[in-house]
Amino acid sequence: MTTGGTPVPLVNTLVNGLLAPPTTMPIIVQKFGGTSVADSQKILAAARKAIRAQMEGNQVVMVVSAMGKNTDLLIDLAREITDEPPAREMDMLLSTGEQVSVALMAMAIHSLGHEAISLTGAQIGIVTDSTHTKARIRSISTERIRQALDEGKIVIAAGFQGIDEAFNITTLGRGGSDTTAVALAAVLKAESCEIYTDVDGVYTTDPRIVPEARCTRRIAYDEMLELASAGAGVMHNRSIEFAKKFSVPVRVRSSFSDAPGTIITREPEALGVPVCGAAMVKNEARITVLGVPDRPGAALAISSKMGAQNIATDMIVQNVGARGHADISFTVFRDDLPAALKAVEQAAAELEAEGYSHDDQVAKISVVGLGMATQTGVAERMFRALAEKGINILMITTSEIKISVVVERRFAQEALRTVHEAFQLDQEPTEVHSEGDGAAPRSSAENTAQLASRIERMEGLIIEDITLDDSQARVTTVDLPDMPGLAAQVLAEIAEAGIVVDMIVQSIGREGHANLSFTVAQKDLPEAIRVTTELAEALNCPPPTSCPKVAKLSVFGIGVRSHTDVADRMFRSLAAAGINVDIISTSEVRINVVIDGQQGQRGLEALKREFADVMV
Ligand code: ADP
Ligand code: ASP
Ligand code: MG
Repeated sequence: MTTGGTPVPLVNTLVNGLLAPPTTMPIIVQKFGGTSVADSQKILAAARKAIRAQMEGNQVVMVVSAMGKNTDLLIDLAREITDEPPAREMDMLLSTGEQVSVALMAMAIHSLGHEAISLTGAQIGIVTDSTHTKARIRSISTERIRQALDEGKIVIAAGFQGIDEAFNITTLGRGGSDTTAVALAAVLKAESCEIYTDVDGVYTTDPRIVPEARCTRRIAYDEMLELASAGAGVMHNRSIEFAKKFSVPVRVRSSFSDAPGTIITREPEALGVPVCGAAMVKNEARITVLGVPDRPGAALAISSKMGAQNIATDMIVQNVGARGHADISFTVFRDDLPAALKAVEQAAAELEAEGYSHDDQVAKISVVGLGMATQTGVAERMFRALAEKGINILMITTSEIKISVVVERRFAQEALRTVHEAFQLDQEPTEVHSEGDGAAPRSSAENTAQLASRIERMEGLIIEDITLDDSQARVTTVDLPDMPGLAAQVLAEIAEAGIVVDMIVQSIGREGHANLSFTVAQKDLPEAIRVTTELAEALNCPPPTSCPKVAKLSVFGIGVRSHTDVADRMFRSLAAAGINVDIISTSEVRINVVIDGQQGQRGLEALKREFADVMV
């Protein structure tokens, strides 16, 4: 949805002698990132875009970021003074970057002969919680913005900032201006939210790393959510949670060209392709807690310690206990490693684990696509491509629409290029899905109540569904020699036997050996065991272990991973019910756990009770 061609509706119509509320003029939110306001010329260019949109008959809200690399400079300044700046003061400092931009933008608009008003987060009434440097929006008041818009002004909102209940300035986390923009678009029921940046749109991967990357025309909310969290820095992931929750159509486009950009909405660009994009988090660290007694509550002890420090964990893999002990591996951002290790030390002691190990030289590569939910062999294709380049896979997790692997950091860029090529992401998909813009109806009567309850929750967690699938079985191959190509080989042989694999996890085991678990339909188990046993013999490894009936419980919603306590609550309620978790896989929209098949129903009930307060 572009600004062009929108008919100009009547505003301030006199009805029965009274001034009718000015309701019909469409609102457009335009967000300008750091590079788009990096100097005075760029600020003036952005101002002209907003004025143009206003002259086309829209009310315009601009959201602006700090100029250029100002936020980085402010962070460096703080670091020159101390390694551990108080988070509250960090927010006080960082919020100034945006305050400079909004003031200059308002001046630019005035200089071009139009009316504008700049507002800080506090002046608007963007109320957040008190988690400094990663605050979440609790409520937004629209009064002041609406009043200014109705006075014909362009409203310029400072991105990335808010205020808590005690009037402390807060910030939303790096890249958070996107979230301010989409949140404002949601509460103002804007026609569209345009994100102006330094690239033409959302590419199949970061075009700075892979020049062959293609600019997509459209991407689905869930795909963008996964990509954003998997490292695609073009959008702040929480902004997409807002967009999805309130069906805000978001368009990502260039500040410097008129290219149409990428629309982020409900529907994907093409239905037939398994992968729409690839992403990388270069600086990850892997932590493994070794020799955890295999009993309910192990995953919980770790996730709750991490959650208490606000550290997001990813790729949690629990090796199904050989010898009555389990190893639990997971990844964190490398910057979080020192804090994570402190937390792990406590968890390991509490669990009476044998110890823990870590590796801070790893990177995470992910591929994402709604299409992979209905296609087979996608993971195998990725693993094979990496194997052919001699890149060893250290960890694997899969969810319905994402496959992530951990590799050594020195291979990260090559791995990203390799998977991009393997899925031919540089090529335009042949069957492009082009019905409408894929946006869901925004205000239909049937979802008004739902929308109202969502508005009340703002960035709060929403659980849409909790499901049980007890039709699967699990196979685990243990102590595989840790060398390139093994995961691909196991999966290729399974596929050759005509067996479809659902979840796959692999983690680093003892002495550099790898353990690979996957789930298959129960009827396929004997054949899967036969194939993996033969393979284990050929590789001189112990025979595979298996479980004839497992239950997969899925908690599905918005914010399940960005709210770090969801996994924690899941593990807590299952542990309280005496249920042990075998496999865990997390994504932005879903957390899956595999438990013993006999416990499925009880597990489902435990989870439904646990999340009753956030089910919508
Ligand atoms: P802004 O300051 O406008 O918010 P960002 O730097 O946050 O801009 O985001 C734009 C950058 O994101 C691009 O310059 C690009 O290098 C990077 N990027 C990473 N992944 C992608 C992707 N999949 N598509 C487009 N850009 C990406
Ligand atoms: N200025 C902040 C940052 O650099 C917020 C943003 O640009 O979105 O992270
Ligand atoms: Mg950004």
